[in-house]
Amino acid sequence: MLGKITAISAKRAYDLRVSTTPAVSADPLRELNRQRVLEQLSRSGALTQSELGRTTGLSRTTISSILTELRDGGLVEDVRAEDPGRRGRGRPATLVTLAPPPGYAAAVDFGQRHVRVAVAALAPRVLAERVEPFDTPRSGRDALDEAAALLARVIPEAGLEREQLSRVVLGVPGPLDPATGNLLSGVILPGWTRIDPAVELQRRIGIPVTAENDANLGALGEAAFGAAKGLGDVVYVKVATGIGAGLVLGGRLHRGTSGIAGEIGHVQVRTDGLPCRCGSTGCLEAVVRVPQLLADLTPPGGPALTLPRLLERVRAGEPTAVAAMRSAGREIGRVVAPLCNALNPAAVVMGGLLGPVGQPLLDGVRESIDEHAQQGAAEAVTVLAGTLGDRAEVLGALALAAQEAGHRIGPSALAAP
Ligand SMILES: [Zn+2]
Repeated sequence: MLGKITAISAKRAYDLRVSTTPAVSADPLRELNRQRVLEQLSRSGALTQSELGRTTGLSRTTISSILTELRDGGLVEDVRAEDPGRRGRGRPATLVTLAPPPGYAAAVDFGQRHVRVAVAALAPRVLAERVEPFDTPRSGRDALDEAAALLARVIPEAGLEREQLSRVVLGVPGPLDPATGNLLSGVILPGWTRIDPAVELQRRIGIPVTAENDANLGALGEAAFGAAKGLGDVVYVKVATGIGAGLVLGGRLHRGTSGIAGEIGHVQVRTDGLPCRCGSTGCLEAVVRVPQLLADLTPPGGPALTLPRLLERVRAGEPTAVAAMRSAGREIGRVVAPLCNALNPAAVVMGGLLGPVGQPLLDGVRESIDEHAQQGAAEAVTVLAGTLGDRAEVLGALALAAQEAGHRIGPSALAAP
């Protein structure tokens, strides 16, 4: 049983690590063989030394010397086989598996109206997690005070001391300037301009902090653990108070030269002068952001429609609500279709507040992609609902923390079963 559990956790660990190459060997052939062994272990979970030889085609001496090096580096470990079929001469066989990476990290995810904190082993395994809603959007400094206080509660709940955490990854709802670390758009979070959220949080908690756009984290979360697990090229669309996309290309987050990649919310889709909060007109976000959709569906003079009520109406198959979600999907698909031509992703994952809408939204996106993307790109892409819900960002932040701790997420990691 122990062997089995170790193998599972090691395999999950490998999802976050892949080219585990703290010290790249000087010999390129040896490095290639090392990668081959690690990738085989990632696919199979646990293997005997001779099974490793058979599946990689490497000689016994090569395997043996590579394993010695990997054991010394803490990258693999030995476990006993529990499967009787693997017993040789009455003794349980020794299996080699990937070792979980060491260390702990925390993730903080801000929305306009919430802060969520999770503390995890970088294996990764969430040890404790809490979410606190905001009644009203907070100024940057107030929100960061609240996150620091929440971290101070959640770290002991995980059974850890602050000093045991190597890093914190912080998700904020907007793109960040890679040069200054400041949020690029003051429009999205008016109280956050001219502050560097990573520096501010680090000052409060005394642990190194990295800040990241929340749509990027959602993309990484769904690609590492959710709907798009195993896929290397993924477009994640987050529809919430605003709308944005995160891009995972070749298994890695793509931020773009100035941190703007994936900002599909301000692509112009209308020429009728519909104002957008960015100051421009006719933006996708002006048409399909959640508050706008709710306002559009509220009858004149009637009580304001809430999101839970809208979701109920969609689930009940109420035609107006279903049609509105399908139409929102089509609007989004109009902007995602050229992305499919340009990036040729394997999946478009719909997340954020409209993720739970499910089929009508997915159908709309699908229709527009089929209509407007090139046939080869449209046929290659699957349109999926996110499976991580409102935890996609915080789990993506933990994936990024593991990556930053030296465990690179590569296409082969994401392709692991
Ligand atoms: Zn706009």
